[in-house]
Amino acid sequence: MKLIACCGKCFKDIKVTPIKRDRAELEEVLGNTFYLRCEKCGEKSKTHIDEVKAEHSVTNYVKMLTFLILPTILMKILSSYGVISTVPFILCSGFMGAYYFDANSKIKEFNSFRVGKK
Ligand SMILES: [Zn+2]
Repeated sequence: MKLIACCGKCFKDIKVTPIKRDRAELEEVLGNTFYLRCEKCGEKSKTHIDEVKAEHSVTNYVKMLTFLILPTILMKILSSYGVISTVPFILCSGFMGAYYFDANSKIKEFNSFRVGKK
């Protein structure tokens, strides 16, 4: 999961750190409104905590891809021993599904909760 906010000038995504499980925790660290510097245009813009949104990070996709590549390699090894098995595929797609579901619910949880203006 990654946290991003939109730049008010060039509308590019700005990464928000630290990554917290929910908005209330993030507010404790950053405050209700805070300043973010855009990596693209250098503009420092005032951001409200509710403007931050959670998204899938690249590592999420890399992990999911690993769950796809891993059984393919296992299949190759197994078939070289003359064993044809779909078990690695079933297991890994199960893991991938569970991982994706978990990551998705974390993102939804973060995005659904709003702190509101103070
Ligand atoms: Zn910008």
